[in-house]
Amino acid sequence: MFENGIVVVGGGHGGSQAVASLRAEGYEGPLTLVSAESDIPYQRPPLSKAFLKEAGHELLPLRPASFYEKNDVTLMLDTKALAIDRAARQLRLAGDRLLPFDRLVLAPGSRARMPPIDGIDHDGVLSLRNAGDARQIRDRLDKAGDVVVVGGGFIGLEIAATARLLGKTVTVLEAADRLMGRVVAPEISAHFLSLHRGWGSDIRLDTPIGRVIGEGRSVAAVETASGDRIAADMVVIGIGVLPNVELGQDAGLATDNGIVVNALMETGAPEILALGDCAAFDHWELGRRVRLESVQNAVDQAKTAARTIVGRPAPFREVPWFWSDQGDVKLQMVGLSMNATHSVTRGAPGDGAFSVFHFDGDRLVAIDSVNRAADHMVGRKLLAAGSSPAPELCADEGFDLKSLIPRPSRG
Ligand SMILES: Cc1cc2nc3c(=O)[nH]c(=O)nc-3n(C[C@H](O)[C@H](O)[C@H](O)COP(=O)(O)OP(=O)(O)OC[C@H]3O[C@@H](n4cnc5c(N)ncnc54)[C@H](O)[C@@H]3O)c2cc1C
Repeated sequence: MFENGIVVVGGGHGGSQAVASLRAEGYEGPLTLVSAESDIPYQRPPLSKAFLKEAGHELLPLRPASFYEKNDVTLMLDTKALAIDRAARQLRLAGDRLLPFDRLVLAPGSRARMPPIDGIDHDGVLSLRNAGDARQIRDRLDKAGDVVVVGGGFIGLEIAATARLLGKTVTVLEAADRLMGRVVAPEISAHFLSLHRGWGSDIRLDTPIGRVIGEGRSVAAVETASGDRIAADMVVIGIGVLPNVELGQDAGLATDNGIVVNALMETGAPEILALGDCAAFDHWELGRRVRLESVQNAVDQAKTAARTIVGRPAPFREVPWFWSDQGDVKLQMVGLSMNATHSVTRGAPGDGAFSVFHFDGDRLVAIDSVNRAADHMVGRKLLAAGSSPAPELCADEGFDLKSLIPRPSRG
């Protein structure tokens, strides 16, 4: 069907799933996965969790190396895609190599956003996006005494919890007035604030970073915007990511905080699809364009893209879910709470296990759970089925929410 075949850019969660799904969907033509990284595609979430704790912790490949061989996927590691020539249907790679394609799937993910402040280039100011970054952070953490984390989001807080566990002095600077404020309920922010403080981190809210102060080439301290100085042997920046849109943008594709795709993961160019962290799409329920950053989103969008390419299109309508492990506490989220009008709580934060159910009017739209995996799992099923239990039932621990999950119809 395709003479030159399909080229997938980005050997992360989405790219690796895309090649797997293309083969699972029966695509038998040439298939190439181009990855800027030197490791075969691996699980990214452990990089801010288990990987930092133990020197011996290895990367966890998403699929064994033999998978790519067995499935006749040409894996080009250490290879950066530089430009798309749409007219010639060719991808230009580093080293002036050209790779022709019939269909191109863009899954280059995102990169850490760095604040434009003085001193940011000093040695020891790090961010965490890939295995190389994680190895650097792990090495530096081993020798550091004072660690400053800039950004109280998921990755920053996971790193802070690990650094405390390793006995480091940890300060977290968060510019907003609560932790993880973009995504979780205020009760969840407050709970994690008290957890992290209890573990011994100095968490400073409403505290933007001002500049990094060095001694020679290396970082020595951080100064907050209001002039407080905090000693630092290392600084980890975790203030969010920027989508890698440039390949698409330079080829004339529309972007809007991400490469714009429709529900089939198609861009405006018929031969190019995009997915995962780099892709922005109009959400079918929210009535706004979103870009999601999660393993589930990248994997499910890759499955959608594969179906589109093989000619069995099915619009992307997966309920998003996400998790974060901080210390020994598990936070799980399902759905999107940005349009929520009110919420109810099931369980008590004081017991260390509770869930916040978010509603938009009388529709259940999202659930944030702390150490309550069962609520999360039920929530995934309820949201997928479009079920909206009454708020008072969600708040009532005596009520079995599972009883509301619609049974699959027989026959
Ligand atoms: C430390 C960390 C912890 C995380 N924890 C969680 C978690 O607990 N739960 C969760 O759901 N999500 C988590 N995430 C987010 C999740 O990993 C991402 O949302 C997901 O990996 C996105 O998949 P992707 O395929 O779009 O991009 P990625 O997995 O980031 O893969 C993109 C790949 O493309 C490569 N690339 C970029 N540009 C080019 C180019 N020009 N040419 C060739 N290759 C290129 C990159 O090097 C990278 O290998 C975490 C992310 C990080 C960094």
